[in-house]
Amino acid sequence: MAQSLIFLIQLVSGNEITRDYCSLPDPIYANGVSAAAAQFGNNGWSYANINDWERIVVTCGGSLQSPIDILTSEAEQANTQPSINYRDKGSEVEYKEIEKPYTKQYEGEYSSIEVADASGLQIRYYAKQFHIHAPSEHTINGKQYDLEIHFVHQAIQDQEQDCNKIKNKLTVFGLMFEESSSTQDYDVFKPWFDGEVNGEVKQFDLNDFFSRMSDTTYYHYNGSLTTPPCSQTVNWIVFEKALPISPNQLNQFKTSFSDTSVFKFMQNNRPIQNLNGRKILKGTVQTIGLAILPDSYASYAYILFMTLISLLFL
Ligand SMILES: [Zn+2]
Repeated sequence: MAQSLIFLIQLVSGNEITRDYCSLPDPIYANGVSAAAAQFGNNGWSYANINDWERIVVTCGGSLQSPIDILTSEAEQANTQPSINYRDKGSEVEYKEIEKPYTKQYEGEYSSIEVADASGLQIRYYAKQFHIHAPSEHTINGKQYDLEIHFVHQAIQDQEQDCNKIKNKLTVFGLMFEESSSTQDYDVFKPWFDGEVNGEVKQFDLNDFFSRMSDTTYYHYNGSLTTPPCSQTVNWIVFEKALPISPNQLNQFKTSFSDTSVFKFMQNNRPIQNLNGRKILKGTVQTIGLAILPDSYASYAYILFMTLISLLFL
């Protein structure tokens, strides 16, 4: 158990919450480059000038950059394992689609997870957004996947934790997808292609994906955002198991990156970066109770049951 990533579910009633997110390090722009000039597009960074990013934002040339190739034979079993507690808001969760020029992205207020840092300190992060890269950015033993979704979680400042003591302000999950003609379209992606930009997606649950990760291997390393400003403040957790995606939806994502002036190869993936001696840790995901989420009105019996289960593993 100590070697396992633990996903726990606790249902929390979900009203609007204002959170005080830990701010990311200020970008360091190259000499003569302004913040305005460093934005995505023809005159700033894009996937057409991918090897020039560090000449726009200095941090992109840093030593802790992402993505990386994960050589599984080099990964070490983690001693202090991050335990991850998803505190789900159940089916009340809503993400809004946000128009981004360089990806497909949903933003919202979601549940929290806890991840231990290298010293064993448990840090709470809140899921803020998820977005798409096609093909995958991380590779595993050199293998590139058709799609990678990044679930971005950010630490917050509150009575229980202090941003100044948190090295990595973000935890990002990387989840791989592989084309499969025998799988159905995911409902959550459908609004992206129905012309309802900034529409609301109801009843989307991260556990739709993460419940499928039970008993699988994940890899953990310290890295960066994979787009400028390339901030080096990310706990990366990359899951080994790839999920299926239908040819229809994969194609819909690919064709949305078709402007060749900013997507040179109709792709939005950054190339592999040097590991520079960083350790890759590995562990096993354990999911608990994710597949039996009740519908919108959570039963108190279920909450009590999950609380008892949680206590067993704390
Ligand atoms: Zn990303």
